[in-house]
Amino acid sequence: MKHYRKVLTFNTNQRRNFINITRDVEEAVRESEIQNGLVLCNAMHITASVFINDDESGLHRDFEIWLEKLAPEKPYNQYYHNTYEDNADAHLKRTIFGREVVVAITDNKLDFGPWEQIFYGEFDGKRPKRVLIKIIGE
Ligand code: ZN
Repeated sequence: MKHYRKVLTFNTNQRRNFINITRDVEEAVRESEIQNGLVLCNAMHITASVFINDDESGLHRDFEIWLEKLAPEKPYNQYYHNTYEDNADAHLKRTIFGREVVVAITDNKLDFGPWEQIFYGEFDGKRPKRVLIKIIGE
């Protein structure tokens, strides 16, 4: 079995952002030269997510509004976690959107459904944060 590891780094200007990383993951799959296997892609931070959904701007706006209803950023003092930090909402948002995705690789390509795209979900940005890509197969 072959394996391949790559780390991506993101440093967003805003506190929250959704970034389409499908091309980055496809590039890693090509570099791995693995024809059939699995790719794991996970946020390496507990205030960020990797998830699969549609690349549609209205939907991303809906995500933001929905997440702010569930876990509003402010007021900061509504959360027990916010003693010396202000990112309790980011931990909660990450929990909803999840840590990682796993995608099948067939013939050195991501074996996706028609509208599936991979996103990095940043909930407490403005600093460098990493995403791990780990590929196994043959
Ligand atoms: Zn925290």
